[in-house]
Amino acid sequence: MKTTDVLIIGSGIAGATAALKLAEDPGRRIILITREPDPEESNSRYAQGGIIHRGPDDSADLLVQDILSAGAGASLPEAARILAEEGPQRLHEVLLAESAVDFDREPGGGFVYGQEAAHSARRILHVGDGTGRAIMKVLAAALQRRPNIELLTNATAVDLITYPHHSRDPLDTYQPIACHGAYVFDRNGQAVHRTLAAVTILATGGIGRLYRNTTNPPGARGDGLGMASRAGARIINAEYVQFHPTALSVPGAEGFLISEAVRGEGGVLLTPEGRPFMENYDPHWKDLAPRDVVSRAIHTEMESNGYSHVLLDIATHMAAEAIRARFPNIHSECLRVGIDITREPIPVVPAAHYFCGGVQVDLWGRSSIENLYAVGEVSCTGMHGANRLASTSLLEGLVWGMRAAEDVARIVKPHHTPRSEDIPPWDESGLTVDSDPALIQGDMQTIQNIMWHYVGLVRSGDRLSRAIRELRHMQNEIETFYRRTKLSDGLIGLRNAVEVALIVAQAARHNHHSRGCHYRVDSVEVGDRLL
Ligand SMILES: Cc1cc2nc3c(=O)[nH]c(=O)nc-3n(C[C@H](O)[C@H](O)[C@H](O)COP(=O)(O)OP(=O)(O)OC[C@H]3O[C@@H](n4cnc5c(N)ncnc54)[C@H](O)[C@@H]3O)c2cc1C
Repeated sequence: MKTTDVLIIGSGIAGATAALKLAEDPGRRIILITREPDPEESNSRYAQGGIIHRGPDDSADLLVQDILSAGAGASLPEAARILAEEGPQRLHEVLLAESAVDFDREPGGGFVYGQEAAHSARRILHVGDGTGRAIMKVLAAALQRRPNIELLTNATAVDLITYPHHSRDPLDTYQPIACHGAYVFDRNGQAVHRTLAAVTILATGGIGRLYRNTTNPPGARGDGLGMASRAGARIINAEYVQFHPTALSVPGAEGFLISEAVRGEGGVLLTPEGRPFMENYDPHWKDLAPRDVVSRAIHTEMESNGYSHVLLDIATHMAAEAIRARFPNIHSECLRVGIDITREPIPVVPAAHYFCGGVQVDLWGRSSIENLYAVGEVSCTGMHGANRLASTSLLEGLVWGMRAAEDVARIVKPHHTPRSEDIPPWDESGLTVDSDPALIQGDMQTIQNIMWHYVGLVRSGDRLSRAIRELRHMQNEIETFYRRTKLSDGLIGLRNAVEVALIVAQAARHNHHSRGCHYRVDSVEVGDRLL
């Protein structure tokens, strides 16, 4: 058993930032865990476009406007205002003063500000097309420098500990639900340990891996949401899953993001026979139409014609030298799998990209459960509403990581940990079956297919009902399997994946109105009777 002041689950930008801020008090003990062997591995590491700052012709008001307009009327204005006003200063503190990320600069020393879709000013800081990698490298190094942060890798949180759920004392059933840490599976030692903490911060990232096509790495399977849901936390906006129109569709590199900037530089989408099609869906913007319009157009072409992918042609529209200079990572990753983007079109599919919903938190990252905070993509501050404005998520993770840490510092005195005598050790006595990787992988693929076809880009009441029926059946099977089977990281992920898939499908069925990235062919207008 371990005890600590603060347990942080997840070492992406949100968890790492919270840890660094909390560690400023040398008397405070922090345990930071990640299920990965490498603390840098996370969605944060794959961010390409960059992180929002404030450009020369920019203002907090302008950014708030852009966030609210992307959010399609469902963004919480107070949250957008916090990001816009506090963001630049907090970014300086964490990524320039504490960690010195080498953002691209002009020859004179000023930052190069990038422009992205739906931003009305240049305001995005980047490091080539590998911003996330550069950020995670310096954050991971900063974590190692703090002696009061114990960083545990290969450590998968299984469940949050609450007295009503776990205590041996029957009277604890009547306690309000508060979080006192987590059961953590040590993948090296193959054992589960209790980690008791005065405060727990969930920073487990997104859910892209619940879908067959996704830009997210394997860890994005909704573990934090599954745990929070079982503990009784409120989860909101789960129907809003953002899809990116263009992910690479080549064996060995599935899901690798082909940035929107490729279309920004003149790239054109084609059917596999070479027919341009975006004009049929958006005659004005064509290939530069908003993300959700382009994604749905590709999806429709694929479904109605039986294509496995479409093509994105930049070779005809940009000189080879310019392509190599502008998109060095995309060029080299495609070349690695046999596609030379300076000579041939790129096979692409739309892919699940970002989860706008999550564990509901307030403006300080506090969830509906006492002592439980959530930050980054696992949380829902309300800022993204029904659709996320590009490049806001890294900054949101950073800002709320710091705000949560500041709030925790106000309320938790060092060395104040919960009583341990009533929280039993993990009981493995009934676990007689060895974990079967084929079963786990097969079930995971079934969930991904259900989510892709029935809870994907284009939804309907029938598709969603079908998904819910199938997912419920699977959840029963998986829960029975879980109760008998020796624990593994894959099994933990599968159990969470089916739970979170159901949460998303149910939220999508409940919301009959198409808005932002939730699109239903049988949408009813707001104000109509809900069927
Ligand atoms: C390809 C791609 C490109 C993107 N580009 C941009 C961009 O340009 N700009 C932008 O703002 N956003 C971008 N995003 C979105 C952004 O990267 C993410 O929203 C953000 O990084 C999420 O950060 P996080 O700290 O919340 O989660 P993550 O960075 O995903 O970190 C999650 C952490 O939780 C850990 N974890 C998960 N489950 C468990 C468990 N059970 N036990 C222990 N640890 C666990 C993981 O190991 C990891 O350490 C992009 C995303 C992708 C996938």
